[in-house]
Amino acid sequence: MPQPERNLRAVNLPADWSPDSWRRRPALQLPTYPDAAALAAVQEELQALPPLVTSWEILALKQQLAEAQEGKRFLLQGGDCAENFADCSSELISNRLKVLLQMSLVLVHGLRLPVVRVGRFAGQYAKPRSADTETRDGVTLPSYRGDMVNGPEFTPQARTPDPRRMVKAHARSAMTMNFTRSLIDGGFADLHHPEYWNLDWVGHSPLAADYHRMVASIGDAVRFMETLSGSEVYNLNRVDFYTSHEALLLPYEEAQTRQVPRQWGWFNLSTHFPWIGMRTAALEGAHTEYFRGIRNPVAVKIGPSVTSDELLRLIDTLNPDDEPGRLALIHRMGASRIAERLPALLDAVRREGRRVLWICDPMHGNTESTSNGYKTRRFDNIRGEVEQAFDLHAAAGTRLGGVHLELTGEDVTECTGGARDLTDLDLARAYRSSVDPRLNYEQALEIAMAIVHKQNQ
Ligand code: PEP
Ligand code: MN
Repeated sequence: MPQPERNLRAVNLPADWSPDSWRRRPALQLPTYPDAAALAAVQEELQALPPLVTSWEILALKQQLAEAQEGKRFLLQGGDCAENFADCSSELISNRLKVLLQMSLVLVHGLRLPVVRVGRFAGQYAKPRSADTETRDGVTLPSYRGDMVNGPEFTPQARTPDPRRMVKAHARSAMTMNFTRSLIDGGFADLHHPEYWNLDWVGHSPLAADYHRMVASIGDAVRFMETLSGSEVYNLNRVDFYTSHEALLLPYEEAQTRQVPRQWGWFNLSTHFPWIGMRTAALEGAHTEYFRGIRNPVAVKIGPSVTSDELLRLIDTLNPDDEPGRLALIHRMGASRIAERLPALLDAVRREGRRVLWICDPMHGNTESTSNGYKTRRFDNIRGEVEQAFDLHAAAGTRLGGVHLELTGEDVTECTGGARDLTDLDLARAYRSSVDPRLNYEQALEIAMAIVHKQNQ
């Protein structure tokens, strides 16, 4: 719960900003809607609906991110590359939650730090694409931009951006959030019962023995504390869980931007922690303009072409008052480039004394295509980028405060390598992602264990 003084105007309201001031800037990656009146009607409908999150939760998360900046917490942010409307089902949602809870248990146990859990879901329905159009057999249609914008089928009807999809995305986000909250509030995340999070095939995993040892040791610790205190340790039966998505589709985000009683300023109430993707992070662009004015904690993806100067100007624009917990930088350089590209950025930010939370996304710089036509990522590159990130931060005198991962609770075969050493040929077996390749349940757990191993070396 936020402290009363946070209601005061602690930092300056940005000048010349309004929820729609982004419209005066160049906006990349936005669809062209054929019917402006239909778009306006949808925005009006969305504005009248209740929000998905509250300003209290947003400010509580900001406080936790401020603590992560100081090294008192570690952030775990993860979920699908893109959610699909068809995947809004109890099994997929609970499996994803299970793997995130298991990973956070591994991290809490191994790092001896509380973990801030942030899902990459309940709104991750819009995607940036490298081309605006796609041509097949001489026919050119708009690219698929996520279920919130258009459909993946290669037909003119499916590919035409439809604003009604925003209303559906809002409803699906609300259902996802509602189910996640109910599971957690009902006791699903209770540390007394980590067996609730077991996925069917955990028994067969090469990692199972390590994981079960960890669970047993936590069980012992919980029972020990309860014996000491003579009662149940209550705050172990629930955890905080926050949501995030790439706030790409600005007409949707604008419609969710609200003022709240007894709070100053504006909040994006569609998610706790929105981020700007690498392709839309230009200083003068519409997305940076929109993010400048909301009070949520925000993140920006930082790719290998960003210079120190550009980064410092971006920090000035998004966090002029150096507010704790406000700004996270998610670097995504690739295992082969991180050692060359990251150190200068770390030095510049440290030299200027700017307060940011550094997060490593080891997925997006490591995407490649196999000879049999799959988009994949090698587990060794993913692990390698995270491990290098820890070392580079240590050498620069900065701190890696979290990781950002694309993962699923399903037994998919989208990334190669890992404990079962999946090969290019395995990809055909269970490749289900509609956009980027995700870590499967086992690979996700293995990354959590690799982080712990690295930190305890
Ligand atoms: C993503 O997170 O799915 C994505 C597109 O990332 P980036 O903006 O870092 O390329
Ligand atoms: Mn992705």
